[in-house]
This record gives sequence, structure tokens and C-alpha cells, in this order.
Amino acid sequence: DEYLSYFEAKCTTSKKMMGEAEKVIPGAVQHNLAFNYPFPLAFSKAEGAFLHDVDGNKYIDFLQAGGPTVLGSNPEPVREKVIELLNSCGPSTGLFHEYEMKLASFICHRFKGVEMFRMLGSGTEACMAAVRVARVATKKKNIIKLGGAYHGWSDQLSYGNRIPGLRFLESHGIPLACFKYTQEVFPNDIAALEKQLKWNRIRGGTAAVFMEPMGPESGTRPLDYDYNAQARDLCTKYGALLVFDEVVTAFRIGVDGAQGYFGVTPDLTIFGKVVAGGYPSAGGIGGKTEYMACLAGGLGGKKSKKAHVGGTMAANPLSSAAGYYTVKMIEETNACEVAGKAGDRLTQGLQTLIDTYGLPFVAYNQGSICHLETVGTMLFDINIFRPWEIPAKIKEIHARKDVMTHMGAAYMAEGLVTLAGSRLYTSAADTDEIIDDALTRFERVFKNVDG
Ligand code: PLP
Repeated sequence: DEYLSYFEAKCTTSKKMMGEAEKVIPGAVQHNLAFNYPFPLAFSKAEGAFLHDVDGNKYIDFLQAGGPTVLGSNPEPVREKVIELLNSCGPSTGLFHEYEMKLASFICHRFKGVEMFRMLGSGTEACMAAVRVARVATKKKNIIKLGGAYHGWSDQLSYGNRIPGLRFLESHGIPLACFKYTQEVFPNDIAALEKQLKWNRIRGGTAAVFMEPMGPESGTRPLDYDYNAQARDLCTKYGALLVFDEVVTAFRIGVDGAQGYFGVTPDLTIFGKVVAGGYPSAGGIGGKTEYMACLAGGLGGKKSKKAHVGGTMAANPLSSAAGYYTVKMIEETNACEVAGKAGDRLTQGLQTLIDTYGLPFVAYNQGSICHLETVGTMLFDINIFRPWEIPAKIKEIHARKDVMTHMGAAYMAEGLVTLAGSRLYTSAADTDEIIDDALTRFERVFKNVDG
């Protein structure tokens, strides 16, 4: 209640705007990451590690636009290049230009699994493209994904709930037929993956195994260290393409992505977020030439099959130039390491606070991808899930969501913006002083947690 009165007293303009917005926008906000409790706040300024709302309140920003801004929000050197480009060429031409070539070349020289790159409008579109490329390249049908993983919101990949390991739909409006060729296996159960690959051999074969190399939901359910390598071997054995969804990890874990970090090379890589540096139209697919060639009609002459993908805004000059200057600056300034160190400091500090106050939470990170799980135990016992446990699990999910929502609101009232109260992205703009200031604010929330 104490936190609710903060919003009522200090966010009056946001509340007024929300009143207008909910008449014309379903749910009042368009962005699925916008924090809605008790009402969405409207923001007017983002710079570096900070956000400012329309009522003049300042926040430390651990949402970082949902991941794209490894350098911090709106870095000046990139902005200047973008303005230069807008002055000369405008945001879109629908034609070939220098930046799509420069960005593709940069990526192909850093990612081991990428010999060719094609830019698209979003991570969702890039995942859809990967399904199509994999099916054309392998002439097989099935797609296997890890339970709970999010690969955008396309019909065929929306199977499963976003809480890792739970097998029910996250959206209505998707006919079950859309999942005819999609299967899920539990994360970390390599035997289950092989069983599914074997089973699929008599049901059209497996075109691709999709996975986030850090584990579903950017490591909300972490993968065992050797799982990626084992999945690689199985894909090779069964002739399926291994697809790494690096929408979150590419240029955040390192400039060679999670595939560089784990030393495992996928056949196709999905890009999003950082690939356009926080600017719009952030998506892309990369891979070996033998697979990517089908995007251009194949290398085998007129008879070879084509995987059509498109998008009016795909690889527009604005997104490509913003992406190119962003990833170049990330490399030049060692931004992944700097942001990663801030992530270490933040999660170590959070875990110390959790221990001090004896809270049933857990904080962990992989570089600048930080997790603050408020119902830690359910993440780790998920594989014993059985159909008859569904009602209890649903109850648990609602309880978890409820806790996360309230914790997220409490953080917000202390001037901390997080992703749904449970994930935090650090950036190269986070100094030690900023992280320590954030920890003091978290402590004020943790002190008041009861039950
Ligand atoms: N894949 C992963 C791992 C993601 O985290 C996301 C978005 O958060 C997507 C795909 C979808 O990307 P987009 O939101 O650009 O459609």
C-alpha cells in the first residue's frame, strides 16, 4: 500500500494519460514490457542508465528497452551517425544501400555460425524465417523447441507457456493444427531430445532444433554447460539444423554471441534487439551459405527451392546504420565486458541482500543478463511435472506472477525499472556508483518484504 500511494502522489500525469490511452489502446499500453501495475507510467526521456517519467521522476533503468541497449540508452555517437544518415538519405528507400552490407559483413566476420546474414523486421520474423529456411534446406518438417522458451509470437512457435517447462498455450486464437509439426522437450533432458528426434524420423523428420543457448527465457531456466554441445551432436546425427536464438545474447554476451561463449557452432542464428541498437526493425537470420542460399533461390540453379521471406522495412538504412554503429562501438569499447561486470556487481549485491534478509529469492547472472527470481524453487523442480500436477502448477504460476508484479511495482516506486520484476539488464553506462545506489534502493524494498 505504501508503494501504491507513491504512484498516486507522484505519477499524476501518467495516470491521466493512461485514462485517455485505455479508451483507444487495448490494455492502455502497446508494449508488452511496459509495467502496468497499478497503472502504466509514461516515459519521456531515456539516457544512459536512466529513465525519466512525464512527471519528472528519475529511475535507474534495468529494463534497457528489453535488451537492445548494451551501450546504455541513446548513446550520442550512434545518435549522431543516425542523424547524419537521416539528413542525407532518410529512413527508408526500399533499395540496396551501404549499411546493410556493412552490418552483414561485421556479423559474418564475428559469428562462427554465420557466413551470410539477412536482416528482418523483428526477432519474431527472424524465427519464422529460420523455420522456413530449415524446412527448405533439410526437406524435413518438424521443429523441436525447449519447453518454456520464447521464440517470438508466431503461431507455430508459441507452443508452451513462458514459464519454463510448462506445456500449455500462452495465447488463445491458435488452432492446435498449427502445432502439428512443433514439439517441446524439457530443458536439460538430452535423452528426451534424442527420443523426439528418433520418433520424428518416421513422421517427416526434424528440420530444426530451436534453442536459446543460455536456456529458455534468457536463462530463466539455465542449461547445463554441456547441453549445447550435446544438442549440436544430436542435430548432426539426425540431420536437423541447430538453430541458436541469439535475439537476447548476440552482442550482449559478447560480440561473437553465446555461440562464441560456449564454443558451439549452430547452423542458423537468430538475431534481434542489439542488431539495430535500440532502433526499430531489429531482426535477422544468419547461417552457413549452404542453408542461407535458399533465401535467394538456392545455389542449385533454377530447380533449387526458395524460402521466401520479406518485409517493407527489412534492412532499412536507419536500422542497418544504427545497428552497424552500435555493434562497432560495442566492440571498440568492450561494452559487453563492462556491462557484464556491472551485472556481476548487481547480482552479487542482490544475493548478499537476499541472504541478509533471509528471503526465498535467488539472484544470478550471465554477464549483463541478470535474474532476480522471487519463487526460485519452482524453476528447478519443473522436470517432475506430470499432467495431474497441472492445476497446482497453474496456481503456482499465478502466485509467482502476483509476487513478481508487486515486487516490480515496489522496485519502481524506489526508482528502479526492471523487466517484469524478475529480469534486469545492465549496460556499459552502469558505473559502480549507479549499481551501489540501486542496491540501496533494493534494500529498502527487501526490508519491507513479509510473508
Ligand atoms: N527470441 C527471444 C529469445 C526473445 O527474447 C524475443 C523477444 O524478447 C524474441 C525471440 C522475439 O523478438 P521480437 O520481440 O523482436 O519479435
